[in-house]
Amino acid sequence: MEYNISLKEMNSFHLDCKAEKFMRVKEERDLERLSEYYGKEKIYILGSGSNTLFVKQHYDGIVARIENKGLRIISENGDNITVEVSSGQVWNDFVEWACENNYSGVENLAAVPSSVGAVPVQNIGAYGSEAKDVIDKVLVYDLEKKEFKYWTNEDCDFGYRYSKFKYQKGNLVIWKVVFKLQKHFVLNNSYKALKDKLESSNQTIITPKLVAQTVTEIRNSKLPNPEILGNVGSFFKNPIITKEQFLRLQTLYPNIVAFDDEKGKKISAGWLIEQCGYKGKRIGNVGVYEKQALIVVNYSNASGKELLDFSNSIIETVKDKFDIILEPEVHIVK
Ligand SMILES: Cc1cc2nc3c(=O)[nH]c(=O)nc-3n(C[C@H](O)[C@H](O)[C@H](O)COP(=O)(O)OP(=O)(O)OC[C@H]3O[C@@H](n4cnc5c(N)ncnc54)[C@H](O)[C@@H]3O)c2cc1C
Repeated sequence: MEYNISLKEMNSFHLDCKAEKFMRVKEERDLERLSEYYGKEKIYILGSGSNTLFVKQHYDGIVARIENKGLRIISENGDNITVEVSSGQVWNDFVEWACENNYSGVENLAAVPSSVGAVPVQNIGAYGSEAKDVIDKVLVYDLEKKEFKYWTNEDCDFGYRYSKFKYQKGNLVIWKVVFKLQKHFVLNNSYKALKDKLESSNQTIITPKLVAQTVTEIRNSKLPNPEILGNVGSFFKNPIITKEQFLRLQTLYPNIVAFDDEKGKKISAGWLIEQCGYKGKRIGNVGVYEKQALIVVNYSNASGKELLDFSNSIIETVKDKFDIILEPEVHIVK
């Protein structure tokens, strides 16, 4: 256990929160040690901090950073390969490994900043792919019961930026994730920007590696680099509303941006925020990125409270104008 550790370099907002207690969890016995504190201390499970907003400058509990390493091929046949990856691995390193070996399924999720362990938490998604489509099972350690258990894909109850791990009470540590990749490449170019860029590249042979490189290039051109401008990617989820509510809004706002969803209509949160005049708006140290209205940024030394207040003002304004309540995608740690 370490004490009074700054988390500034361990969260992509670069908030200078100090953890009263800090533990690097590298081995199974570290999990057992951590479990001794469960129920006695507050525990926050931290991956690479790319989806975490520390509101206070002090975390009065234990921040447990998951740092176990390893990758192991479990089984293989002519069509698929099953690989178990430890939670502390960098997600993009795994994507690169898969692409180098011509295994398909994760290439559209290239360059999402994440630890492997956080990937199932909100079922990361990008460029027409979601992690749930390649997650076979998840090895979970329950700090309360002090035991390991495999959760199947169904157990995780994956949805849009959702799984059972997203709003859990803090006892479930994802320790390893088992992915099932395809040996025969199936191109997913359902996302228009990706399709256009691949077509304009004039490459006759498209490989997972080419897709990953193309996705990375598009992302780099659109998203602010957290090393330069602190951010957590999309701050809010795209809200899902009923078809009736959508039709009412569409008569008022014919250009509203929406997508079909099994539960109704998924509305572009970026569009809603932009309509409220927030795109590119800056208040003090915080603001909304000028190229993408879903991204809240820390321009310089913002506090977590400033970021939270600013995001709440966005929620209120959108609620007043559209009667839609935006839900943060980021994990807000109070
Ligand atoms: C520039 C940028 C772009 C982004 N683009 C995307 C995108 O395209 N798609 C997308 O889906 N997300 C995106 N994100 C959000 C982020 O990359 C993902 O949410 C990612 O999975 C966060 O990983 P992390 O390890 O940094 O998580 P953290 O911020 O460390 O943790 C996030 C949550 O997961 C929990 N958690 C972490 N590790 C574990 C574990 N081992 N066991 C149990 N719980 C755990 C934490 O308690 C917390 O609740 C982006 C973020 C940034 C900064």
